[in-house]
Parts: sequence; structure tokens; C-alpha cells
Amino acid sequence: MHNKYTLNIIPGDGIGKEVVPVSLKVLEKLSEKFDFQLKFKFFDYSCDYYLKHGAMMDKDGMKKLADCDAILLGAVGMPNVPDHISLWGLLIPIRRAFDQYVNLRPVKSLKGINGVLKEKKNIDYLIVRENSEGEYSDLGGIIYPDTENEMVIQHSVFSKKGTERIVKYAFELAHHRKKTLTSATKSNGIIHSMIFWDNIFENISKQNPKVITSKFHIDILCAQVVKNPDWFDVIVASNLFGDILSDLGPVCTGGMGIAPSANLNPEGKFPSMFEPVHGSAPDIYGKNIANPIATIWSCVMMLEYLGEKEAAAHLFACIEKITESTKTTPDLGGSLTTTQVGESIIELL
Ligand code: ATP
Ligand code: MG
Repeated sequence: MHNKYTLNIIPGDGIGKEVVPVSLKVLEKLSEKFDFQLKFKFFDYSCDYYLKHGAMMDKDGMKKLADCDAILLGAVGMPNVPDHISLWGLLIPIRRAFDQYVNLRPVKSLKGINGVLKEKKNIDYLIVRENSEGEYSDLGGIIYPDTENEMVIQHSVFSKKGTERIVKYAFELAHHRKKTLTSATKSNGIIHSMIFWDNIFENISKQNPKVITSKFHIDILCAQVVKNPDWFDVIVASNLFGDILSDLGPVCTGGMGIAPSANLNPEGKFPSMFEPVHGSAPDIYGKNIANPIATIWSCVMMLEYLGEKEAAAHLFACIEKITESTKTTPDLGGSLTTTQVGESIIELL
């Protein structure tokens, strides 16, 4: 008997609408080869949806989205809709409603691609970003508006539960990799939340004596992931620091066109969501030149999560065959279109 999976698909905005259909064709082909079944359910939640309906999704949208084995998202955001609307109207509510508190972002050199670094480095580390709280908070506001004392307060929220669970997840991953774990902090300047973070990290490290740990302030960590990326294997970071690291990492390995991510609810109580790290890239939208690899690689992560490990490994190998060749989009120096890269991968499958 073959496995069946229902996937809820949100192409979203901009290049999301180009890279997602291409990725789905790849998935369909893969499912034939590896004998599993996929059912796609499409959702048009996006900035266009917002402009028509005044909200990024309908009222019972979250309920509809919950009914699946996994969610695949392209990107949301367009220049004619403020960023906070697309972010707080769709992405963050999904991550929070489904308790996707782990944002996993692999940074890995692919065969044949150099990032911005002059010498080729063998980069392979995993960013574990806290995805449910931290600096991304709607607590705060303006005090004394329109006076000379006007000021704004922006709170961060670091709960014991939230910090412990992400740090524990990172230790668990470290056990399955090279048994080294780095914590991103800034406890010299941010003395409440980051000291709290450090203390929890230290406590949990005592329960995991086999994992070698290190702690870097985010500023020097940014320098070292560029200069000495081989020092790192798993890096655990707060919501904001993790976000910064996960644009910096891919630029060293080949750019946003190849950066995948997973928003995980590790307990499996709610669906997890897979999406490229990049946004809707309005500057290149409509030209059919967006690199679909970030999304296809996110599908690799989805297949691993669903338990289709063999299919995932095969798809990843095909991605590397593409990056090794010149069959790439312009961001990687090739001249193929989004659609053609998808077709090349399908041929390889
Ligand atoms: P967000 O706020 O959603 O993170 P952003 O403003 O950081 O979005 P992105 O959309 O992530 O911007 O992209 C930044 C730039 O990188 C784009 O303008 C585009 O030129 C390039 N880029 C992003 N994704 C891709 C891709 N898949 N293929 C090729 N180039 C890309
Ligand atoms: Mg960005």
C-alpha cells in the first residue's frame, strides 16, 4: 500500500506564484517514481486576496489550513501592501496557530556554486531559529505622541517554555549531527532577555554533556560564519538573530535563490510548513527567472518530515546535479528560466 499525503498549497505573491507550480510538478513526478500519492489543495491567501477582501485570509482560514499533512508556501508581500500586514496577517499567525516554534534553515554549499566568498568553503551548518516569540512581538506602542518627548517602546518576549523547547530541540539535532552546538546571544548589551537565554542554554547543556557547546555574541558570530563557517554545525538563535543569520548564511553559499526552510511543530500536533527563505522578490517577478531551487529544496525537507526519506535524498541529489551544471537561473550564472530548471530536474528524476 502506498502512502497518501494531502498538501495545502499557498503560492502567495510575486515569485511565489512562479516557483511553487514548478516545484509541484517536480513533486508529482517524484511521487510516481517513489510510489506515494499527493493531493494538493490550493489557497489564494496573498496580498491580492487582501486587496480584494481586506484580510490576508478568510475567517476560518486557519481551520481549513489545519486539515493536511503539511503546508507549502511560496512567499507573501507586495510593494502595494505594507510588509507588517502580510507578515502579521498570514505568516506569523500560521506559525503561531500551528505552534511551529522551530524554524530550521540549512546553510550548505551545493556542488558547483560559489557564494560571495572568494575562496570556496565547504559550508554545512544548520540554523535553528526560534519561531514563536522573542523580538517579533506586537507588545509596545508610542508614548507622548506628537510631543518632543515622543518615544516608542517595543517589547521582546522570551518565555521559559519557549526558550527551553527551542534549545532542547537544537541539542537533540546536535546529537544526531556533529555533537557541537553554538548559541547566538547578545547578553553584554541586551541584559534581560539574553542573560535569561544564556542561563537556559547553560542549564540544558548540563543535561547534554556529550554535546560541545559555544556561545557567541551575534555581532562576532556574523563575522565568524563568514570567516570560519567550518567552526559551526548547529546554531540556535532567537527569532531576530536567526532571521539575520539565515540571510547571511545563504549569501555565502549561493544566494537567496537556494535557501530553504521548514517551520516545524516537532510534536506533530499541528501541520508544519515549508517555504523558501526568500520573499516575493517583486523586482524579478513576471520574468520567469526566479530560482525554484529554494522551494524545491524546501520540498526535500518536507519529504523528510513526511517520512519519504528515499525520495527526499533522490531529489536533493538531482538539485546538486543541476547546480553542478550550467542548467541554472541567472542568479547562479545560468540562463535558464524558472520553468526550464524545473523541467531539467524532472528529466533527471
Ligand atoms: P522579505 O522581506 O520577504 O524577506 P526581501 O525584501 O528580503 O523579502 P526577497 O524577496 O527575499 O526580499 O529577495 C531579495 C532579493 O533577492 C530579490 O529582490 C531578488 O533580486 C533576489 N531573490 C530572492 N529570491 C530569489 C530567487 N528565488 N531567485 C532569484 N533571485 C532571488
Ligand atoms: Mg529578507
